[in-house]
Amino acid sequence: MTSSPTWPRRSTGTPAPKTFATRLLHTGHEVDPVTGAAAVPIYQVSMFDQPGLETPGEFDYARSGNPTRKALEGVLATLDEGAGAFAFGSGMAALSTVLMLFSAGDHLVVTDDCYGGTYRVLTRVFSRFGLKATFVDTSDPEAVRAAFRPETKGLLVETVSNPFLRRTDVKAMSALARTYGALLLVDNTFLSPYLSRPLTEGADIVVHSATKFLGGHSDVIAGTVAVRTPELAKEVYFLQNAVGAVLGPQDCFLLQRGIKTLQVRMERQVRTAAALARWLAGRHEIEKVYYPGIGAVVSFRLASDAMTSSFVEALKLPLLGVSLGAVESILTVPARHSHASVPAAERERRGITDALIRFSVGLEDVEDLQADLANALGRAFREAA
Ligand code: PLP
Repeated sequence: MTSSPTWPRRSTGTPAPKTFATRLLHTGHEVDPVTGAAAVPIYQVSMFDQPGLETPGEFDYARSGNPTRKALEGVLATLDEGAGAFAFGSGMAALSTVLMLFSAGDHLVVTDDCYGGTYRVLTRVFSRFGLKATFVDTSDPEAVRAAFRPETKGLLVETVSNPFLRRTDVKAMSALARTYGALLLVDNTFLSPYLSRPLTEGADIVVHSATKFLGGHSDVIAGTVAVRTPELAKEVYFLQNAVGAVLGPQDCFLLQRGIKTLQVRMERQVRTAAALARWLAGRHEIEKVYYPGIGAVVSFRLASDAMTSSFVEALKLPLLGVSLGAVESILTVPARHSHASVPAAERERRGITDALIRFSVGLEDVEDLQADLANALGRAFREAA
């Protein structure tokens, strides 16, 4: 009888891969230890037979743990340089789960032009359980300092805010959070771990809507959390299992596949976004361009609200709707899509009107995108005149 081979055969003597590009592919989970399969199998299962009453297996029930999810979570922890990482059924499930680290009476300071769903869950769900939030411009550390109260237990910021793409200095936020004994939570959806790793700059918890750049292909809704310390990993694991908003194995597989090409996608998308931002700034049909010099999303304000519908109708290439970070370019009208859940008066106060456009740059050729935008801008300008 021949004995079964075991994997990974390359583990002995191989130095740990160092660069981000290599880590995307080689984290130790890339070969199935049972069969040598070159992708992690989808363990489509809810429970695991136990070896014996006194000898529990590593997995018992798939809410508590699943091998496909475990492999993905290993990759996520490596990419974000965390002590642990966790996969959830959506970005909002990830964020909501970590918000459950707080208790009634606690107060959070939060980025004011945050994702609309974040605003909604804080003001209409967690507020009912006594968690209070103050929204401030977190690109201004003094405004953040002024918003701290004795009961402030957390600071929740977005590395690049939405839709105005204002940058927040994670190191400055970390210094403030330490001074006041608060946890620093960072939503890094817009940059991805390729462009920014907030745990290395003093953040305690990083959240991603993995629906966006991590997945990258408009085919999976997912969220991730990575944490700086083993203690936080224990607490978040407890909540992940207790609340149960876990990512299913098929989606774990898709996310892991998307992550393998994160760097090549982002390199190309960032280059195209920077070129488009420069080009848009020279167009007379545009009042203002918002581009933080990093990332693959560009926002801009058309010369008037009246231009928006014909501009959108004339475009041929981008998808229209509520997402970003995909291989296809996606055009969002924040007032109608991502921020529709923000009350109208609050949207008006923040300047989120119909003329504001958010453009997530995909993998199309930059010249094709420019030609499509030029045609739509020209037509919308003429029709609104
Ligand atoms: N955070 C940011 C910055 C987002 O843009 C989004 C979604 O657009 C979310 C969180 C929520 O993620 P999901 O849609 O995966 O629940």
